[in-house]
Amino acid sequence: MDQASHPPTQPLADHIADDKEMSVWIYVETPQGSRNKYEYDSGLGRLKLDRTLHSAVHYPADYGFIPETHAPDGDHLDALVIVQQATFPGCYVRGRVIGFLEMSDEKGEDQKVLAVAAEDPRFDGIRNLGDLAQHWLREIEVFFSTYKMLEDKSVEVGQWQDRHEAVTLINRCRLAYLSDLHRMPQLQ
Ligand SMILES: [Mg+2]
Repeated sequence: MDQASHPPTQPLADHIADDKEMSVWIYVETPQGSRNKYEYDSGLGRLKLDRTLHSAVHYPADYGFIPETHAPDGDHLDALVIVQQATFPGCYVRGRVIGFLEMSDEKGEDQKVLAVAAEDPRFDGIRNLGDLAQHWLREIEVFFSTYKMLEDKSVEVGQWQDRHEAVTLINRCRLAYLSDLHRMPQLQ
């Protein structure tokens, strides 16, 4: 199976501004608990093992990106989705967006959208960052502050922003994707 192929029958990127649930598809590259960082390589059109984390830490939630977005760092917009049970690389998870974490690294802005699994009733009450046990936010902040330390790469972790800011960011990155697609049709 071509892991890279997006569901072909309909566009993934719903207009979430019209979606009261504020949910989006998230493509999982690296599952919660993993020390292997799997990454979708758009050149290869495949998932690959990018690296094993140098530090003794693991991903605190399923991690990947929101398809059909272009983030300021030139990649897809990164996203974490909190799940009851880790999924697998290449799995699409419907995530209800609750905020994002400001971040930057050597490539520039590198925001991380945070969502919870929209189809899991355990997360029914989670609509905002404040609905989540705050330890989740601390754990994610510390993970991103430290996971590249032994690679001698600098990462700046900023503030959490609420879900409305996250939706604005997602829509901005969708527009960037669409305009880039228009300019560079070969990317289709
Ligand atoms: Mg990124």
